[in-house]
Amino acid sequence: MQNDPLSHGLWECSAPPPPTTAALTGDAMADVAVVGAGYTGLSAALHLAEAGATVAVLEGAEIGFGGSGRNVGLVNAGMWVMPDRLPAELGPVYGPRLLDLLGDAPAAVFDLVRRHRIDCEAEHRGTLHCAAGRGGLEELRERARQWQARGAPVELLDAADTARLTGTRTYAGALLDRRAGTIQPLAYARGLAAAAMAAGARIHTGSPVTAAVDEGTAWRLHTPGGSVRAPWVIVATNACPAGPWPQVRAELVHLPYFNMATPPLDAELQRTILPERQGAWDTNAVLSSFRFDRAGRLVFGSVGALRGGGRAIHEGWGRRALARLFPALRGTVFETQWYGWIGMTANHLPRFHRLARRVVGFSGYNGRGIAPGTVFGRCLAQHLSGSLPDSALPLPVTDPQPARWRAAREAWYEVGAQIAHAAGARF
Ligand SMILES: Cc1cc2nc3c(=O)[nH]c(=O)nc-3n(C[C@H](O)[C@H](O)[C@H](O)COP(=O)(O)OP(=O)(O)OC[C@H]3O[C@@H](n4cnc5c(N)ncnc54)[C@H](O)[C@@H]3O)c2cc1C
Repeated sequence: MQNDPLSHGLWECSAPPPPTTAALTGDAMADVAVVGAGYTGLSAALHLAEAGATVAVLEGAEIGFGGSGRNVGLVNAGMWVMPDRLPAELGPVYGPRLLDLLGDAPAAVFDLVRRHRIDCEAEHRGTLHCAAGRGGLEELRERARQWQARGAPVELLDAADTARLTGTRTYAGALLDRRAGTIQPLAYARGLAAAAMAAGARIHTGSPVTAAVDEGTAWRLHTPGGSVRAPWVIVATNACPAGPWPQVRAELVHLPYFNMATPPLDAELQRTILPERQGAWDTNAVLSSFRFDRAGRLVFGSVGALRGGGRAIHEGWGRRALARLFPALRGTVFETQWYGWIGMTANHLPRFHRLARRVVGFSGYNGRGIAPGTVFGRCLAQHLSGSLPDSALPLPVTDPQPARWRAAREAWYEVGAQIAHAAGARF
C-alpha cells in the first residue's frame, strides 16, 4: 500500500481490490462523520447506513491502512487478559457485559462475512493458544477454567493433541477456542467498506481530517480537499495519529508486530501443519503466531518492527524459529514481510471516550481488534441511532489518560524484541 511492501505485505498482494473511492472535494453534509476506515469506522458506517443514517467516512490514507490491513487475522473471543480481569477491573455491570459482547464477537464477524458475501478467506474453525512449557500450560489451564465457568466452548488440549493440530511437538498443550477463527484482514476491511457503500455510506480515502470546528448544532471536519458538516462524529483512528484528537493516540503505547509469509507449501506439508486450519499463537512473552492463508502460505509473526537494524534481526530469527517449529521448513525463504503498531492501554482493556459533545469513539484494543472493532462499531451505530443508551454501553465513559513513559516504553518494546530475537532464546 502506498508503494510500501512492508506495510501490508501478503494481504495487499492477495486481497480483492477495494471499492472505488476518491478524496473528498467541496463541502458536504451527513448525519454522522466517521474518521478512519478500519474495522471500527467501517462497521459503524455499515450499521448506521443500514439504520437509514447518512454517513461520510473520512480516511486519511486507504481503506484498511491501519492495523485493520496489517494484522495476523486471528478473529479472537475476549481480550488478552484473563476473563476474570474484566469484572475485576470494570465492576459487576460492565465486566460481564463486555465479556459477553466480546465472547460473541467472532460470531458477529462471521455472520457479517456471510450476510455480505465478503470474500476474505474466512475460516471459522477455532484458534489454538499454545502453551510454552509448564508455566504456559498452567496459564492456559486457568484461562480454560475461567471461560468454562462462563459456559464458553473452550477445551484444554494435551501435548499429543496439540502436536496433532499444530504439526509441532514444541508445545505442552493448547487452548482450543471454537468460537474463534481466521480471516484475510485487509480483504475483510475492504469487504466491510463495499458493504457500507452498498448500504449508502460515502467513503472518502486520501482525506485526512486536519481540523474539527464546533459550529454549535454540528461539527465541521476539514480535510485538504473539502469539509463535512455533521451533528455526530465518530473517531475510529485507534493507534494511528488522529488529527484533531491526539489524546486518543497519546493514551496508547505502540507495540510493534510483524508477519512473514512463506510461499504456498506443498500439499503434504499442509496436511501435517495446522491440518484443521486453526490460527495459532503461543504464551511466550515475546510471542509467535502462525496460520495459513487460502493458498497454503504459512504466515509467521512475532513482536518487532521491520525497520532499521531490526529487519535483519527479525528475519534471521524468523527463519531459525520456523525451522525449530517445523524442521521440514528449514531453508524456506519468506516471500513477503510486513509490520504495524498495536495500541496498548495501561490495563490492557479497551476504552470508550466522549471526546467532546457528540464526538465518541472506542480505542485501545491491545492486539484484539478484529472482532472487538466490529462489535464496537456496531455499538456506536446503535448508540447514535438511539437504541443503545449510555447505561447499556459495554464500557463506561472515560477521559483519555496519556500513557506514562510512552516514548520510553515504545522504544523498549522495539529494542527488547530485537534483543530477544537476536539471542534467539525466546522460543
Ligand atoms: C501487526 C498487527 C497484528 C495484529 N493482529 C491481530 C489479530 O490477529 N487479531 C486481532 O483481533 N487484532 C489484531 N491486531 C489489532 C487490530 O488490527 C486492530 O486493533 C484493529 O485493526 C483496529 O481497528 P480500528 O478500525 O479501530 O483502527 P485502524 O484499523 O488502525 O484504522 C484507523 C484508521 O484511521 C485512519 N486515520 C488516522 N488518523 C486519521 C485522520 N486524521 N483522518 C482520517 N483518517 C485517519 C488511519 O489511516 C487508519 O486507516 C493486530 C494489529 C497489528 C498492527
